[in-house]
Amino acid sequence: MNIPFIDLKQQYLTIKEEVNDSILKVLQHGQYVLGPEIRDLESELAQFIQVQHVLTCSSGTDALLLALMAYDVGPGDAVFTTPFTFIATAEVISLLGATPVFVDIDEKTFNIAPQLLEEKIATLPENLNAKAIIAVDLFGLCADYDELTSVANKHNLILVEDAAQSLGAVYKGKKAGAFGHVAATSFYPAKPLGAYGDGGAVFTNDTSIHEKMESIRVHGQGKNKYDNVRLGLNARMDTIQAAVLLHKLQIFPREIEQRQQIANLYTQSLNEYVTTPFIPDDCTSTWAQYSILSDKREVIQKHLKEQGIPTCIFYAKPLHMQDAFKSLGYKQGDFPISENAAQKIMSLPMHPYLKPQDQQHIIAQIIAAVNK
Ligand SMILES: *Cc1c(COP(=O)(O)O)cnc(C)c1O
Repeated sequence: MNIPFIDLKQQYLTIKEEVNDSILKVLQHGQYVLGPEIRDLESELAQFIQVQHVLTCSSGTDALLLALMAYDVGPGDAVFTTPFTFIATAEVISLLGATPVFVDIDEKTFNIAPQLLEEKIATLPENLNAKAIIAVDLFGLCADYDELTSVANKHNLILVEDAAQSLGAVYKGKKAGAFGHVAATSFYPAKPLGAYGDGGAVFTNDTSIHEKMESIRVHGQGKNKYDNVRLGLNARMDTIQAAVLLHKLQIFPREIEQRQQIANLYTQSLNEYVTTPFIPDDCTSTWAQYSILSDKREVIQKHLKEQGIPTCIFYAKPLHMQDAFKSLGYKQGDFPISENAAQKIMSLPMHPYLKPQDQQHIIAQIIAAVNK
């Protein structure tokens, strides 16, 4: 038996006809770039997230870039984020010539720890200007935005929400994507709301920032594409991806519910054996990953592999230990909470179409491995 880690084929089968039809429609109308489906998707997403402005773009990475460029992040600026995230979060900071300043995570939520952020701001070297925070909603759980908003306000920092993993999550009654000055998400196929290729979006309630990002999305255009008022990117989403996402957005609430049920069963069944995810009151995760901690990770992973059950490690090497960020001068021991999580964490198969018998098998095999 081989269980997929994420089963996108099964999802496709449930929406096959509608998706095929709408892709065909794009092929026929011929507006392959910034076609009508793009605007439809942007307005449906604005409705779903409850934000004023949504701008689709080519990827989650470009969404983060658009956000930072709109706030003129550049050389000399410090942008605070955690080393326990996907490379893209910090990569965009360096690409713009700014400096990622890592802050360790909260050991229960894996999200940026507001108290440690305060300490980092207070001890920032004088040659750097504290400019922005990128808070990541890791594994689909929102960061602590009440605390982060107050830190950002106090120090006059731009707060960016990296919602690449958290579309569909809720924090104190508000949806992921609605926090900070600007939020960025990804529609990479394996994300909770995935397209059939790359895609992303930025969310904001600030009209002037929205307009600036819209300009940057197409080479810094002014009145039109051939009037360029600033340097920008080619960061548009393909119309076909928007057509796909319009359908996926319709079944998304039901899928979030299914993800929730699967996560609940994992937690009820496994919490005596491993450390299961911590979800604070007033929050719901969208379960981009269901990640457990165990001192016996190697044993569990090997046993599950033998049983045809895939697992992944997000993230085995925190960013401060990556060669790409060597020049920042961090060393092992600088972020002990991230480093400890990297040693013990593993993610289990998680998607809305996980069959009950497969999930029971996964659970039984984890328990068997722990008891070995
Ligand atoms: C996936 C991801 C991104 C980047 O999204 P892409 O669409 O792959 O460019 C950024 N941040 C986080 C936390 C992610 O998980």
